[in-house]
Amino acid sequence: MSKTGNIGVTSENIFPIIKKFLYSDHEIFLREMVSNAVDATQKLKTLASVGEFKGELGDLTIHVETDEKAGTLTISDHGVGMTAEEIDKYINQIAFSGAEEFLEKYKNDAAAIIGHFGLGFYSAFMVSKKVEIVTKSYKEGAVPVKWTCDGSPEYTMEETEKESRGTDIILYIDDENKEFLQKGKIKELLTKYCKFLPVPVAFGKKQEWKDGKYVDTDQDDIINETVPAWIRKPADLTEDDYRKFYSDLYPMSEEPLFWIHLNVDYPFHLTGILYFPKVKSNIDLHRNKIQLYSNQVFVTDSVEGIVPEFLTLLHGVLDSPDIPLNVSRSYLQSDSNVKKISNHITKKVADRLEEIFKNDRKQFEEKWDSLKLFVQYGMLTDEKFYDRAVKFALVKDVDGKYFTLEEYKTLIKDNQTDKDGNLIYLYTTNKDEQYSYIQAAKDKGYDVLVMDGQLDVHAIGQLEQKLEKSRFVRVDSDTVDNLIPKEKTSEVALNEEEKTALTEVFRSQLPKLEKTEFMVMLEALGENSNPVMITQSEYMRRMREMSAMQPGMSFYGELPESYNLVLNADHPLIKKVLADEEAHCSAELKPIDDDMKGWEARRADLQEAQSKKKDEEITAAEKEDLSHTEKKLDELREKRNGILASYAAGNPVVKQLIDLALLANGMLKGEALSRFVKRSVELI
Ligand code: ADP
Ligand code: MG
Repeated sequence: MSKTGNIGVTSENIFPIIKKFLYSDHEIFLREMVSNAVDATQKLKTLASVGEFKGELGDLTIHVETDEKAGTLTISDHGVGMTAEEIDKYINQIAFSGAEEFLEKYKNDAAAIIGHFGLGFYSAFMVSKKVEIVTKSYKEGAVPVKWTCDGSPEYTMEETEKESRGTDIILYIDDENKEFLQKGKIKELLTKYCKFLPVPVAFGKKQEWKDGKYVDTDQDDIINETVPAWIRKPADLTEDDYRKFYSDLYPMSEEPLFWIHLNVDYPFHLTGILYFPKVKSNIDLHRNKIQLYSNQVFVTDSVEGIVPEFLTLLHGVLDSPDIPLNVSRSYLQSDSNVKKISNHITKKVADRLEEIFKNDRKQFEEKWDSLKLFVQYGMLTDEKFYDRAVKFALVKDVDGKYFTLEEYKTLIKDNQTDKDGNLIYLYTTNKDEQYSYIQAAKDKGYDVLVMDGQLDVHAIGQLEQKLEKSRFVRVDSDTVDNLIPKEKTSEVALNEEEKTALTEVFRSQLPKLEKTEFMVMLEALGENSNPVMITQSEYMRRMREMSAMQPGMSFYGELPESYNLVLNADHPLIKKVLADEEAHCSAELKPIDDDMKGWEARRADLQEAQSKKKDEEITAAEKEDLSHTEKKLDELREKRNGILASYAAGNPVVKQLIDLALLANGMLKGEALSRFVKRSVELI
């Protein structure tokens, strides 16, 4: 028997195409060759188990060998082998339907082409100038066959000598791909793609330390673990087995929090172990750790599109023969099996979390801080997951107590409902910086949540939409009485003149901080509240925070930070400042105020007269009169402010009160802080 023929391709130039276009993923040829060897071995085992193969199975180890001198890479197995007819059928006649069109479309996507054509074996030609198959079928009396092809669509097939059952695939590596003759490179690829294959794969020999150097022993070096944890029964695995497998996968990582062992038979096949890593921050750092396998053959470690976005934060292994091996990503994402798998995993993850929450609340709470980011991410990006997770997602208050949202609602319902029936969730983003506000809220019997996580801003937004009549208010965004408005707050018992004077006294002594703006406000907060406080409107702060994350909203980001300096008109110190101011300034202010009253009356008259006329009827002289009056008023106001400012500058209590408020907000720094300390000593 000797035969020459043409490989049954409709497109004459398929080999040049394989060579030319498939360069990006050259290395997958090795995966294809070794997995064919595994398939052939598994088939033989199956035949033996059903009694169709009665011979000796023997050692089924697959061998990979490089021969740099001969320029060959050989993959040998002791599997089923092939008869000449089988080579004809499975190697020579490959069906290429719609070949041309498909090649045009995917010419840059090697994996897609190989997958589409079932070209597993032919990927050998990406790196070889010649390929030989030397094979002997397991069938009784089988004649060994040698098939040779030099990369043109022509092959030869002839009888040959071969002792043992199985197949040798001999690749004559071409000049551009010499790297695949290097032991180090092959070892790397075997470790990447073949680490968990179900049949032992030997590459080189185990080494030992002898006479000051490493030497080969006569024992094969098996590069794979044939029974990895995920394909074993959960009942047969201890916690340590799971931890050990995790550290095999990620040698440098901290211990995982929990794991989920997946084992699905219907309506698709899926096994795997997913681990919850300890995540604290930086989402990206931990992404893409899940490895995807198909029957223990490594496929990829970029699982976007296969598992939901938020699950890419998990670590571990997924194995499914139903995930098509060699197709493009866009194809994968539209594959219905892949979608089902993705939904299933989401459900399993939610189930597992709920189970731990229900059975071991203590453990769940202990690990919540690490789990939180992951759960929030899931809730924000996956509606179905939100619906599940809302039952076990926790919030933590400043005392370190954990609550479900439902529990928390019950806790605060009575005391933290405002006059319009809204439930107010108070929160802090920094327990230390907002300490005095937290204290004030607690003194009022309020509870304060800690919301200092990366996704908390978004989580708050989501909860406000989902929970009915609920609002989140940062604890420092208003004075404690206004955080949860219950009824009309008390009026400030000062007349307009006193109000403007007091406001100006404090305004004049405010520090000039870059990109920061203060508004002085007066409120009646009772004698026991602080005399001066700084608050920042919840709305403005959120706008700034959002704009920092979203490029389109830079407008808010450019606005200065704006704070309210709230003066407590009920406080004795504020009253004293006002009384002092009157004693000091009233003589000086009196004539100015009288003068101003005159000018103000004049301005009112002029405005009144001009408002009755059309714009073009107003004469230049009349316009001039009004603007002159306004200028006069400005001058007088400036003079007035000057007097108040110089009084304020001479009263250390004003500065001291402002600095105390700044200090409570962590805004007093550097030189200002040391001046404050000095002044404090003097005042004592
Ligand atoms: P697939 O593995 O998807 O069937 P391949 O192109 O990788 O496609 O292989 C084509 C066929 O060639 C296989 O189905 C098998 O019948 C045969 N074959 C390839 N390699 C071997 C081998 N080492 N031993 C026995 N048969 C093989
Ligand atoms: Mg194959």
